[in-house]
Amino acid sequence: MKRVGITTTIPSEIIFAAGFVPVDLNNIFVTDLKRSSYIQDAEVAGFPRTICGWIKGMYSACLDHGIGRVVAVTQGDCSNTHVLMEIFRMRDVETIPFNFPFGRDSEMMARSLKLLMDYFAVDEFQTEKWRVKLNRIRAKLHEIDRMTWEDDKVTGEENHLLLVSSSDFESDPARFESKLDRFIKEAASREPMDHPVRLGQIGIPPIVEGLHSFTESFGARVVYNEVPRQFAMPSGGETLVEQYLLYTYPYDVGPRLDDIAEQIRLRKIDGIVHYVQSFCHRQMEDLIFRERLGVPILTIEGDTPRELDARTKIRIESFIRMILDRKEAVL
Ligand code: SF4
Repeated sequence: MKRVGITTTIPSEIIFAAGFVPVDLNNIFVTDLKRSSYIQDAEVAGFPRTICGWIKGMYSACLDHGIGRVVAVTQGDCSNTHVLMEIFRMRDVETIPFNFPFGRDSEMMARSLKLLMDYFAVDEFQTEKWRVKLNRIRAKLHEIDRMTWEDDKVTGEENHLLLVSSSDFESDPARFESKLDRFIKEAASREPMDHPVRLGQIGIPPIVEGLHSFTESFGARVVYNEVPRQFAMPSGGETLVEQYLLYTYPYDVGPRLDDIAEQIRLRKIDGIVHYVQSFCHRQMEDLIFRERLGVPILTIEGDTPRELDARTKIRIESFIRMILDRKEAVL
């Protein structure tokens, strides 16, 4: 199996078309039993304590899993990825840069895609065949997302885990699609859940564990996972260029705000949990969300893969109680 590591969602259509298999380094890091020691290993190797845990985890997971080639997003995701690429090269990991063009310029996007296609020696025809194939699987993820907020039959955690896997289709699209088919069938037979509070989780996927299940134990279900939903490309697009321009995460915050505001209305969301990662520049987006989204926002921060700490649990519980009190006051 020819594996290619990826540091975030990229046009995996091109990788599959070339006969390679994408492996999301975030996913293999955070699902590995050694996830905590991966962070320590990176610090022992020389990564500063004040660098985000996702970067350190991806570094160690890549080396530990023996992945010799990585596509790294050098524009539109994370400035830390630039230096991570340099370090990978020092460790004999081949790196391939990919840019999401600032300003969502379609010509520049077409050029970025062409460069990646040239690297993997595939053409638009081969890539388009994979786009159609992967979009069939994405449609099943959209159905699971709909079953989360409209049918109330899918938990926030199930939604998160399945949608976040669409960055690399668990490195096996056929097996992943069968898993989704089984899941949809089983979830359809469930009774609807009835949580009095409906939450949205925005920001990067949490490195901490148990966020979704903890909210459910206090009567609040996450019915919207912003970034995992974006990984599944909910806005579609007629071409690869259009599809990756409609994907909101790598560009300026404006389209993200519009998307979040629309989903708050559609999904009848009572409050937002904004997850931020320690030492991540995206923490500054919190200011924008607080000024622009007209619902209560709780900002929680995590650093390494471990259970929610007691202080965060108390804050989440108080947030849910505050929303419940407000709702009861209106009734
Ligand atoms: S959490 Fe922030 S700093 Fe860490 S990899 Fe993601 S974008 Fe970069």
